[in-house]
Amino acid sequence: EWLHRPETRAVTDMLTEAGHQAWFVGGCVRNTLLGRPVDDIDIATDARPERVMELARAAGLKPVPTGIDHGTVTVVSGGIPHEVTTLRRDVATDGRRAVVAYTDRLEEDALRRDFTMNALYARPDGTIIDPVGGLEDLRAGRVRFIEDADRRIREDYLRILRFFRFHAWYGDPENGLDPEGLAACAANAEGLRRLSKERIGHEMKKLLAAPDPSPSVAAMAAAGCLQPILPGADPAPLAVLVHLEGEVARAPDPILRLAALGGEDPVGNLRLSRAEARRLARLREAALSEAGPGELGYRLGAAEARDALLLRAALTGQPLPEGWEDEVARGAAAEFPVKPADLMPRYEGPALGAKLKELEARWIASGFTLTRAELLAS
Ligand code: ATP
Ligand code: MG
Repeated sequence: EWLHRPETRAVTDMLTEAGHQAWFVGGCVRNTLLGRPVDDIDIATDARPERVMELARAAGLKPVPTGIDHGTVTVVSGGIPHEVTTLRRDVATDGRRAVVAYTDRLEEDALRRDFTMNALYARPDGTIIDPVGGLEDLRAGRVRFIEDADRRIREDYLRILRFFRFHAWYGDPENGLDPEGLAACAANAEGLRRLSKERIGHEMKKLLAAPDPSPSVAAMAAAGCLQPILPGADPAPLAVLVHLEGEVARAPDPILRLAALGGEDPVGNLRLSRAEARRLARLREAALSEAGPGELGYRLGAAEARDALLLRAALTGQPLPEGWEDEVARGAAAEFPVKPADLMPRYEGPALGAKLKELEARWIASGFTLTRAELLAS
């Protein structure tokens, strides 16, 4: 349906009406073929970036030179961004980012992409072009490097992480990972140390957002590809967490899963945002604390308390206590009935704070049943 919407049509029309070619490529084609949601639209064209800028302005669309050095112009049409990238071929590489030159040949553009399923193109009329056999691999759930896996990884070590990420999302869980790709990842694992932490963090969060990333992460660890990016991480609790998530219909959440994976300094090693770092710390602290479901619900709110308890069960291997969800809900709804004014002027300053804390602890321990009068009488 995105293929036929007028906003997208306007972008391909502006190119084809000027005598250029336009092909949809990458995730939008792959996901449409799988019947999965599409979030960003990538378009390949033989028009040069300056020409794309010019045509977009003339068509009354908004061109933004988001990556003009490597050929990408974002054309905003009806508020929807479309990444329009000039056909490219790789010319040189430093192992961290490929260096590119323009080409007029779709086949060359396909060869610089990472996996066969990511090198599927579609004309504006919906005809599929499959220069490297991606359709067959997509149907088989096989994430396969284009050409020599070892060489492609040495061009850009991020492809190791992308290999595991795309397997988690689009691979056939019955078949496991492509053996040739897996062996090449294992052989080049040390190259991961050369990547920026931003790029690593971005890929890891996308991997961990997959419905069940645990087989991929376990394979990553077994291939020595987890240790270089997150030393000390343990894939075992992640598998337990995903299982528990399924039982309580908890949607995938990368930070919760990262909390299960553990490892040294995930905040620094994956360049987490402040908000992500705080949430990760809160979840781990709550999971490893002694506080029961009611107290966690009261202190963290229902949603985060549930997550902390799932995490605790995953990390300790202990089952979730009977009735835990009701207790969380009760805690989240409870309101501490004593106000500072109730204790004044009998208590003041630090003594007031300490007394409030003491009464609150007693109230929590009572399962939120002690009333204001009972607490004040005690
Ligand atoms: P999604 O957006 O769902 O994560 P995607 O396939 O669109 O999936 P992107 O990271 O947005 O993935 O990249 C778009 C396309 O660009 C990919 O499909 C692939 O063809 C190509 N690509 C992206 N990163 C690389 C890379 N590191 N090496 C080679 N090709 C890449
Ligand atoms: Mg994309």
